[in-house]
Amino acid sequence: MSATEFDIIRKYFSPDIVREDVKLGVGDDCALVEPPVGKTLAITVDTLVSGVHFPTNTSPGDIAYKAIAVSLSDLAAMGAQPAWLTLALTLPEIDETWLKGFADSFSETASDYNCQLIGGDTTKGPLAITVQATGFVKPDQIMRRDTAQPDDKIYVTGTLGDAALGLRLLTQQDVSDSIESYSIQRLNRPEPRVEFGLALAKYCRCAIDISDGLNADLGHILTASSCGADVELDNIPLSEQICQYFNLSGGSVDWGLIFSGDDYELCFVVPEKYEAAVYELAENKQIPVTCIGSINDSGLLQWFDKSGAEISVENTGYKHF
Ligand SMILES: [Mg+2]
Repeated sequence: MSATEFDIIRKYFSPDIVREDVKLGVGDDCALVEPPVGKTLAITVDTLVSGVHFPTNTSPGDIAYKAIAVSLSDLAAMGAQPAWLTLALTLPEIDETWLKGFADSFSETASDYNCQLIGGDTTKGPLAITVQATGFVKPDQIMRRDTAQPDDKIYVTGTLGDAALGLRLLTQQDVSDSIESYSIQRLNRPEPRVEFGLALAKYCRCAIDISDGLNADLGHILTASSCGADVELDNIPLSEQICQYFNLSGGSVDWGLIFSGDDYELCFVVPEKYEAAVYELAENKQIPVTCIGSINDSGLLQWFDKSGAEISVENTGYKHF
C-alpha cells in the first residue's frame, strides 16, 4: 500500500460507526471480525464500472449510495442482516472534491444500515467501485433460488421498470419533470429491501433481488429450482409515473423497458397458505407487494395477458456481456 493510498483511506474512510463484532478494522493487512454464534455468514460482491453500470456524469454521492445499495439488496434477497463492508476503489486520479462527495455518502449510507467498513483497496485506473457486503442469517431462515415448488405463488415488491425509465430519460427530455425526477431517483437511489427481506425470511425459503430484470431473475429461480411459472403480465406492478410515460408515448406498455433491470426489488416465492401473512407483512413494513403468478412443473417461464393469450417477452433483461 502506497503512502497516498493510506492517506486516502485515513482521510476519507474512517468509519462513523464501530461495531462490537469488528475486532480490527481498516488499516492492517486484514480485518478481524467475530461472527455471532449460531449464525451463517452471507457474503456478496458487486462491481460498478463507470459508463457501464452508471452514466459517467453520475454524482459521486449517488455512485457511493448505489454501490452499497446493490450489495445490500443481495443480502436482503437471502434474508441476511447486513454487518460489514469492504471497498475496492479504482480511480483515474485523486480528485479531492469527488472523493469527499463519495466518502460522505458512503459513510452515511453504511451508517443507515448499521454496517461498518472494515477494509479496502485503492488502485489507479478507469473509475470502478467494488463493494463486498457480509451479513448474518439464521441457518433455518435462508432464502435461496433453488427452493421454489409447484403451486407456490410468485410475488414482487414495489414497482418495476422505473430505474430503466430513469436511464432512458437521461437522454430523452420530453416528459414532465415529475416523471423524470421520480425515475432518476429510482435509478440512482434504489432502496434495498433489507428489513422486508429479514421479516420475510421467517416463512419464505425462496427469493432473488431483481437486478437483471424480472424475466431474467425469475428465470434464475426456475432454473435453480427445476420449475416453470405462469405470470400474468397485467399483474406486474407499475408506478403511476411509468404509466403516465407510456400514455404520453403512444399508450402501450414497453415490456422490454420493464424487464431491463436495475430495480433492486425482491421477487419471492411462497406456498399459497402464506398469502395472508405476505400481505400483513407488506402492510407492517409499508412495502407494496403484488402476486404476479404461480410456479408449476412445466420447466417454462410463460407470460399471459388478461384474456389468457400467451405473450412473448423473449430477449429482454440486462446482458452482462
Ligand atoms: Mg442478486
